Amino acid sequence: MVLLKIRVLDTTLRDGEQTPGISLTTSEKLRIATKLDEIGVNIIEAGSAITSPGEREAIKQITSEGLNCEIASFARALRLDIDFALECDVDSLHLVVPTSNLHIEHKLKKTKEEVLQQAIDACEYAVDHGLLVELSAEDATRSEMVFLKKIFKEGVSVGASRICACDTVGMLTPEKSQEFYSQLNDLGVPLSVHCHNDFGLAVANTLSALRIGASEFHCTVNGIGERAGNASLEEIIVSLNTLYDTYETDINIQELYSTSKLVARLTGVYLQPNKAIVGENAFAHESGIHADGVMKNTATYEPITPELVGHKRKFVMGKHIGSKGLKNKLQELGIKTKKDQLDEIFTRVKSLGDMGKCVTDVDLQAIADNVLEIESEQKIKLEELTIVSGNKVIPTASVKMKIDGEDILEAGVGIGPVDAAIVAVKKGIADFADVELEEYHVDAITGGTDALIDVIVKLRLGDKIISARGTQPDIINASVEAYLSGVNRLLKD
Ligand code: MN
Repeated sequence: MVLLKIRVLDTTLRDGEQTPGISLTTSEKLRIATKLDEIGVNIIEAGSAITSPGEREAIKQITSEGLNCEIASFARALRLDIDFALECDVDSLHLVVPTSNLHIEHKLKKTKEEVLQQAIDACEYAVDHGLLVELSAEDATRSEMVFLKKIFKEGVSVGASRICACDTVGMLTPEKSQEFYSQLNDLGVPLSVHCHNDFGLAVANTLSALRIGASEFHCTVNGIGERAGNASLEEIIVSLNTLYDTYETDINIQELYSTSKLVARLTGVYLQPNKAIVGENAFAHESGIHADGVMKNTATYEPITPELVGHKRKFVMGKHIGSKGLKNKLQELGIKTKKDQLDEIFTRVKSLGDMGKCVTDVDLQAIADNVLEIESEQKIKLEELTIVSGNKVIPTASVKMKIDGEDILEAGVGIGPVDAAIVAVKKGIADFADVELEEYHVDAITGGTDALIDVIVKLRLGDKIISARGTQPDIINASVEAYLSGVNRLLKD
């Protein structure tokens, strides 16, 4: 079977950066562009050259990097915009013309004829200057089809190489999307789909358009973008890969999770845990029956394996844990129990779950120790912790610990007070253990600034990984408590 080739235009750096609150530096944009190129994105919309000198600097850096993919700038149908794009040495333009009466009359305060002429002039001008043009209709899905086709036809006749119709405010449904895009797939150039997620349908609408012949889609990593965002790269790619068998793209699927993480970190827009494909819970299992099924055969409760997208499976202990899952976990921790002891531990884990807590390895250890009445001697005890932090002060921490009864004094600096405290503790225990902090999660339990702070850490010593918790009114104390309780557990056997 011949697979249909679908091309990907990623607009994380343009539409994505228009997310309220996001502003990326030049070096951050370059890192994202490099990653997008590495994973096989065909076209990167690197920004909008007209925006500012800083934006142009970033686009120039990206175009001078020698990436494989096509680099585009957003431009309105204005010579000024095109000149700035030319200055940045881009390969192509995402040349956007509003086509709905609403936009033409209320935003541009022009007539349709004026807009059509402007679009033709801009296409000609850009093509004359050696740019490849993707002529894009803004608010296309609320435009008159006759006018829309006219603008595309005339654009193509003066050299536009591709056309794109934007569902600017996300009003399509999957059915309407098929009907709409099927009227634009016979204009002799590749048709591109650009969907927004105002009703959570951006991915579905994009897939519908691809079904009837669109051969390129616009997307952003993690679906970031204005308002409810754009169609998400990872969801479309994995859907095309797994739910359909007639398409191919150049995207390296296994890099989707790492790409998502990179963009989340650099933009500061973190994902909802239940985000499809790349969310932290996308492959997490808590319920006893589910966890048991997945351990026997992952296909029972996973439509794809986490490895496919470079993600990880995880099992979470909570109120849904089954007795088998608990027994496995206890065995992993090296704890042997009799039947009645297991039952008692089971009850206590469940009641912690009922209080809304997820149960860390150290929580489980403490519960088990308690049930089995084991006196657990802590190798490392925190005696004193002093922090200096503030404005124009390098965050500094000093700690006094007792390790096997011996006093250890250490100090450390960090990028913040929590970091400084962990650095100091790490230095203090360096002779005993080289413990890596793999994950750090903080939650304010009641929500106010006087809330109890719940810190959960995941630590690694060699190939042993353990999770631990610290709960205190003070975030620094909670962090150190979580860290040390994990280290003590790791050093135990
Ligand atoms: Mn858009």
